[in-house]
Amino acid sequence: MNNDCLILVVEDDAPVRNLIITTLGTHDYSYIPAATGEQAILAASSHNPDIVLLDLGLPDISGIEVIKKIRSWSTMPIIVISARSEDSDKIEALDAGADDYLTKPFSVEEMLARIRSTQRRLTYMRHADENQAVFVNGSLKIDYSANCVFVGDQLIHLTPIEYKLLVLLSRNVGKVLTYQFITKNVWGSSYDSEIASLRVFMASLRKKIDADNPGETCIQTHIGIGYRMIKAE
Ligand code: CA
Repeated sequence: MNNDCLILVVEDDAPVRNLIITTLGTHDYSYIPAATGEQAILAASSHNPDIVLLDLGLPDISGIEVIKKIRSWSTMPIIVISARSEDSDKIEALDAGADDYLTKPFSVEEMLARIRSTQRRLTYMRHADENQAVFVNGSLKIDYSANCVFVGDQLIHLTPIEYKLLVLLSRNVGKVLTYQFITKNVWGSSYDSEIASLRVFMASLRKKIDADNPGETCIQTHIGIGYRMIKAE
């Protein structure tokens, strides 16, 4: 079922790497293992995988360097795996161009769920026209050319900032966006005061777009890190 998806697994810890590739194998994913950053960069450029699972703590070069190298030529989705629970590592990885993260220890179910959601995002991105005028995600519809937002048939009135936020999240659907990335894009700078404002605007935006189905938000909060719009199945 997943045979079309090739996953590059970058992890220097052999038992963890084996657990990951065994799990992928039993779920019909193809994979390429790599144990160092240099191997990862080589494999990414020669095999052009669909998804990269990348441990941040590697023996030769850091995972952050690997992300920067890959991002110099490719937008392939990168899911970072970090043993460190510090948010700063994840934030640095996300700002360097990673799409998502898993914190060690993680369950294989959690890993498979992240891979599936990345596949949904990939499918969407491959079929979406760059200049697509209308974005649809579940009951949410954004008409970019008319600057209109609908939930179901209901036209939703957003403030200019709320609209900018929603458009930014939708243009990066499936991707975790850091506070810094969002505030830079919406306000042009990233001061603490803007991060505080961001929380307020996000709360009001959610209230408006989730009014019909409270508790069923399409915008996830990543505490201490940022937000993500989830692609509906
Ligand atoms: Ca490691």
